[in-house]
Amino acid sequence: MSWLTEFVRPKIRTLLGRKEVPDNLWHQCPSCQQMIFHTELAAAKKVCPHCGFHMRATAQDRLAWTFDEGKYTRIELPKAVPDPLKFRDQKRYTDRLKEARDKTRQDDAILVAHGTLGGVNAVVAAMSFDFMGGSMGAAVGEGLVAAARLAVLQAAPLIVYTASGGARMQEGAISLMQMPRSVIASQMVKEAGLPYIVVLTDPTTGGVSASFAMLGDIQIAEPGALIGFAGARVIEQTVREKLPEGFQRAEYLHAHGIIDMVVKRGDLTPMLARLVGFCTARQMAA
Ligand SMILES: [Zn+2]
Repeated sequence: MSWLTEFVRPKIRTLLGRKEVPDNLWHQCPSCQQMIFHTELAAAKKVCPHCGFHMRATAQDRLAWTFDEGKYTRIELPKAVPDPLKFRDQKRYTDRLKEARDKTRQDDAILVAHGTLGGVNAVVAAMSFDFMGGSMGAAVGEGLVAAARLAVLQAAPLIVYTASGGARMQEGAISLMQMPRSVIASQMVKEAGLPYIVVLTDPTTGGVSASFAMLGDIQIAEPGALIGFAGARVIEQTVREKLPEGFQRAEYLHAHGIIDMVVKRGDLTPMLARLVGFCTARQMAA
């Protein structure tokens, strides 16, 4: 077999001069199972054109979709202490970090950038669930503090896209310390009289939902996003009750007054631009 695959196949390929065809041209919708061509999916901002299912997006996607003409300037984030606990489970934490960095081409689970949104200066911090489940360690905390400082410096609104499974267990108590730290970061923006807008995306759970993710002046969520602290099964086992339909989903939280609005991805950027426009217009008047 190895002779066939390693020797004969490459030979045939060079003879035919055929290029490798990437096998990721088609994506299957996890909700309706329909196949979607990759360019069509990209044009629809990773929303299924058949059933409207919102697939997970990366931090890079968020930045490109949010700023005017997809143009923005990313800021370098302060480096956090790598692997403070020398943590190891099945794998070393340093190995996990390296894998995640190779996979996502990001340093950690957060990116921060500034640019204009609807013509108004704005700072955006976006999380990637791809990067170790979007878990919040010291690097994410650093990112949020840097984003808040930048927003204050530029007198610009701060928009945060959350996508996280919670705290990063490989950093133990240090990851938990990022909860109060991120809360202080959001407080800095508010104390400067600037809007702090949170867009909750699928999924936002654990320590992230228990800190900066729920403190927005305006709380927006994408349709169908899972938002909660503990998992539904854990809650069910603890309270020994069947949980209602749609529990911990964006629409349920909206119906119960936890969030302000559920906005489809296609409408999100215009909505953010309007909100940012309102807030800055009011500021100018004041
Ligand atoms: Zn679908």
